[in-house]
Amino acid sequence: MLKKINNNGNISQIATKFQGRKTNVSEEVNQIVQNIVDDIRAKGDEALFDYAKKLDGYKLTKENLTVTPAERVAGLEKIDPDYLRILQRAKKQIEEFHKHQLGNSWTTYKENGVIMGQIARPLERVALYVPGGTAAYPSTVIMNAVPALLAGVEDLVIITPVKADGLVNPNILAAAEVCGISTIYKVGGAQAVAAVAYGTSSIPKVDKIVGPGNLFVATAKKICYGIVDIDMIAGPSEVLIIADEYANPKYVAADLMAQAEHDKLASAILVTTSEKLVVLVNKELDRQVKSLERREIIESSIENYGGAILVDTLDEAFEVSNQLAPEHLEILTQDSLAQLPKVKNAGSIFLGEYTPEPLGDYMSGSNHVLPTGGTAKFYSGLGVYSFVKYSTFSYYPKAILATFKDDVEAFAESEGLTAHANSIAVRFDEADEAKNTN
Ligand code: NAD
Repeated sequence: MLKKINNNGNISQIATKFQGRKTNVSEEVNQIVQNIVDDIRAKGDEALFDYAKKLDGYKLTKENLTVTPAERVAGLEKIDPDYLRILQRAKKQIEEFHKHQLGNSWTTYKENGVIMGQIARPLERVALYVPGGTAAYPSTVIMNAVPALLAGVEDLVIITPVKADGLVNPNILAAAEVCGISTIYKVGGAQAVAAVAYGTSSIPKVDKIVGPGNLFVATAKKICYGIVDIDMIAGPSEVLIIADEYANPKYVAADLMAQAEHDKLASAILVTTSEKLVVLVNKELDRQVKSLERREIIESSIENYGGAILVDTLDEAFEVSNQLAPEHLEILTQDSLAQLPKVKNAGSIFLGEYTPEPLGDYMSGSNHVLPTGGTAKFYSGLGVYSFVKYSTFSYYPKAILATFKDDVEAFAESEGLTAHANSIAVRFDEADEAKNTN
């Protein structure tokens, strides 16, 4: 049952609760992970193999560190061909969307001879963390791999923990196969993050680590940030649905629950101009939840982090949404496309009643790795640009430098940087002037 939240200008209180769902990292976890990172830095492979044995029960060696071609074939044999087709379709959809994010290199040639621009270059090596355990999410492999590959990352590897049997989940092998990723290291947890961040004798250092993981993994990514880049530290998932009296309560309820089933900290919020809709959505929640497997999780997250915010106008609904900056925003109103310009802060926006958020989790084409907990105010979701860095360049002829000479020297001297001023001045020494033909 959605609690009614009256919007009496108290959006900031709601935002605080919404943003405060982060899973707290205890000092104890921090210390455990810091020790693991320090050990990997100091002892490399030796520490990595020790932790794999101790934490996951797998006797890792240099020889059995990666998935072999034979293991891949054996794993893929367990995959239903139709499942492979679904993965391929998802990849194609995601590729089609992300292609539009390519290319941010530019050069401009000014009439006075100045040339300037920027060059986009892909990161060379990226590690994709794939969580172990029962929750194998091949969709996350594809969502992370496709933009990296489109950006031109040449060396994309997977790190994923294995148990004593040393086997990687076949669904993950299938997603890796579809994306053409051939190197899969059988290591996970904080030790794997540290290994790819610093490099060991058997695992080369990477430039960036992406992908979700548990608290140990997330904490390790945080600690290693700066040595490598990371995607983000994702918090619990959330959806905010803006709906008017024309919205179908059955769909609204279904979409709120699709989000709520992620975990007990997930948040599902309805912002609506229609009190009647809230009543109908609640009826639908009661009806539909009965047949859902994760009923307990859904009921808990809706009870603790769900709600219906009543507003007078749709403009007010967008003010609320912009302040909460949800990871996923569904717009279920009449003429939803016309409402799009009102969105300022949201990770990904789903327009109209036939674009439910779960379509975006798998196949609409947009990325499902998105900023959570209100961080859509300043972060974007994962994209091709996440795997690219930019170098700027400029070329000035002497005659044009001359027109900046006095100002740059004065600027440098005002900052006490006389060597900076000198670097300009020496280019106009009279003795050199005579020799310099450039
Ligand atoms: P995981 O791979 O993230 O973590 C497993 C590793 O944790 C183990 O290999 C071990 O090295 C380490 N570990 C476990 N207990 C430890 C301890 N006491 N001390 C030190 N290290 C320890 O797999 P998981 O635990 O199954 O967690 C998966 C996480 O990923 C979940 O939190 C899930 O919600 C999240 N997830 C998110 C998405 C997504 O956002 N798209 C997708 C899939 C999974």
